Amino acid sequence: MLRRTTLALLIGLLAAAHSSADEPKAWAEGNLADLVSLYRHFHQHPELSFQEKETAARLADELEKAGYRVTRNVGGHGVVGLLKHGDGPTLMLRTDLDALPVVEQTGLVYSSQVRAKDDAGNDVGVMHACGHDLHMTNLIGTARYLAENKDRWRGTLLLVGQPAEERGKGARAMLADGLFEKFPKPDFALALHVDAAAAVGQVGCRAGYALANVDSVDITIKGKGGHGAYPHATIDPIVIAARFVLDLQTIVSREVKPTDPAVVTVGSIHAGTKHNVIPDACQLQLTVRSYSPEVRKQLLAAIQRKAKAAAASAAAPEPVVTVSDEGTPALFNDEELVGRLIPVFERAVGKENVVLAEQSMGGEDFSHYGLAGVPIFMLRLGTIDPQRLAGFARFVQQPPSLHSPLYYPDAEPSLVTGITAMSAAALDLLAPKSLEK
Ligand code: ZN
Ligand code: ZN
Repeated sequence: MLRRTTLALLIGLLAAAHSSADEPKAWAEGNLADLVSLYRHFHQHPELSFQEKETAARLADELEKAGYRVTRNVGGHGVVGLLKHGDGPTLMLRTDLDALPVVEQTGLVYSSQVRAKDDAGNDVGVMHACGHDLHMTNLIGTARYLAENKDRWRGTLLLVGQPAEERGKGARAMLADGLFEKFPKPDFALALHVDAAAAVGQVGCRAGYALANVDSVDITIKGKGGHGAYPHATIDPIVIAARFVLDLQTIVSREVKPTDPAVVTVGSIHAGTKHNVIPDACQLQLTVRSYSPEVRKQLLAAIQRKAKAAAASAAAPEPVVTVSDEGTPALFNDEELVGRLIPVFERAVGKENVVLAEQSMGGEDFSHYGLAGVPIFMLRLGTIDPQRLAGFARFVQQPPSLHSPLYYPDAEPSLVTGITAMSAAALDLLAPKSLEK
């Protein structure tokens, strides 16, 4: 009896020794203080899209320090870090760099106090309200872990710090600058995004469509201005626009197949200057969301048709409809890659913590790397302490969403889970032949 207990104890000790310091979770926990101070640095120094100069420099320096060969200024402020260790596949890990024009209201001691000028010259507050500060810290942590544990993998790591995600242009700029020609084209690409409604410790996975096609549409309804008391001598663009906004509601409700997700939102409408003046024109700004390319085409064509019809019915000039180039294509997580990594995450963070991520009509330009022919997978990282979540639930409230001035992740446990999951995925995808199952 005693002997059997001793043996069990010995086996337990051996197992513990094997899975201790060189396992990603233990590594992340052991390096947490340093990682959190790096996270707070990024959080306190946010930069707007296309202005990520200092952020990119810090990321590049950190990757260089960790032993990566770094190239700066790829597609703007983009950063590429390479680490080759023997023959094997190439794995890309991507973080975004940019923050948002939001005045932080979290009240945290390390809140951002930064202000900057946006493209239009407006003075705006700047905040990492989309968690890109956590994404960067996660990438650096994973990069350090993998560099310190090279004996456990074979292949090439391609680490990408991508600018201007919030404007939907950074991935395209890096690809246009030869990301997949000047550097090895990856066999797989992974990224994670913080989830503002999921409990910390959780990793959300979803195969197939996970995020939407995002299009911004600008519309000018033209009329003929004049005196508000003499409408018969004018063509009133406000009345046309009002009719048009209502008609838009029937695209999703009556034209798109009910089982295909779609959204048409009029986010802005502006016309006129005074009570008694009928203006010449009315401006509208729409966000349009879908998953499939067919539905995307259907939505944009219907908007165009209804704008023309509204104008024609009032004998007004043709409206101008412009689809912006800041849109992002839908994000499609490679089914085989997701299927391969779910059991890896289950082993790394616990089966009960790997959950099915909800589909969302948000957008992410990580999708471009998939369209460039690379199997991609963006996982969602829970970031809210379960007790904090329970607090919101008690008052029947939603936690603050991404882009909210009140959103903040619980950084310590989020980083541990993120680095653990990302590193475990890398070790599996780059497993040396001798270790492959
Ligand atoms: Zn965002
Ligand atoms: Zn984001």
